[in-house]
Amino acid sequence: MIDMRSDTLTKPSEQMREVMRTAIVGDDCYGEDVSVNNLEEYCKELFEVEAALFVPSGTMANQIAIKAQVEEGNEILTEANYHINFYESASTAILSRAVLNCVRKSDGIINKSDVQELINSKPRGPLYSKPQLVTIENTINYYQGKTFPLETIKDLYNYTRNIGISLHMDGARLFNAHIATGIPLNEYARNVDTLSVCFAKGLGAPFGSMLMGSEKFINSARSIRKQFGGGLHQIGMYASAAQYALDYHLIQIKKDHQLTKEMAIMLNEIPKIAIDIDSIETNMIFINIKSLTSNVSEFIKLCEDKGLLIFPWLPGIVRIVINRHISREDIYKATEIIDIVVNKLSGRVVHA
Ligand SMILES: *Cc1c(COP(=O)(O)O)cnc(C)c1O
Repeated sequence: MIDMRSDTLTKPSEQMREVMRTAIVGDDCYGEDVSVNNLEEYCKELFEVEAALFVPSGTMANQIAIKAQVEEGNEILTEANYHINFYESASTAILSRAVLNCVRKSDGIINKSDVQELINSKPRGPLYSKPQLVTIENTINYYQGKTFPLETIKDLYNYTRNIGISLHMDGARLFNAHIATGIPLNEYARNVDTLSVCFAKGLGAPFGSMLMGSEKFINSARSIRKQFGGGLHQIGMYASAAQYALDYHLIQIKKDHQLTKEMAIMLNEIPKIAIDIDSIETNMIFINIKSLTSNVSEFIKLCEDKGLLIFPWLPGIVRIVINRHISREDIYKATEIIDIVVNKLSGRVVHA
């Protein structure tokens, strides 16, 4: 079975498991897990941030960032389809009792004037909630892994700093953005107040995210992590897997992006499905199958029967994600399977 549903599906290699087996551990709630401390130190240098905190998931990283920077009843300015609003099971309402004030952009990129508009959408003052945080996402999951332009981030940061609100970057796939654009990780970090990155996406570790920002921010993040149930004990095994992924897998993301482009070019030759080749920047391909069927599950089931797993994204759209286990041979086979399925479905339409 070729599994192209997500980049969270990767499994640790034998070498990674060996590193985990031999990792030095201690109790991280006591600050005594050497592997965790080393990973946090490493990220502090890599991103040039004051402080870093290892947390169990990307969702928890984002939710801690929100809890630390937004008071109850106050406002987060963001985009309607970002992970924070769309995929985090309403945890912002539950954990922080904060309000989401969202703009919907056709490309997912929020800029300074979008934020200004969101702020000015209410008269403000004591009768209204107070905007305290802007969040952006990089790469943008909902928009096919699109990278967020650095210039727009800089512009936003200038603005948010001036008006005294915080800027958080959900960088679950920031490593993909970094590899695709060549922009250094510290350049991204320098232009936001807080950011999170995931080790369990394209990097291929089994667990964990890093939340980063000022020392003051990370101090409060540390107690919120505990409140949210994310204070873990001998967690160094997972920190060592994340370190291994940074050392050996980060550079290989280049291969994922290359294969994604190649597969998109091949898929583009298949009639009746639509791909926006030019918009593909990282490891995702959205395939529009609306001219074939409105039933995404039918399409997916036919692919599965032939040995290919893909993800039902939206009505009429399926998603392919290339992860580190996918080879060039896999993209050829997968394209062939999709071609067969498309033929089968278009045949049926003709004879109906
Ligand atoms: C996957 C993802 C997250 C959260 O990751 P989990 O570790 O699964 O909680 C956050 N933001 C974006 C954009 C993601 O794609």
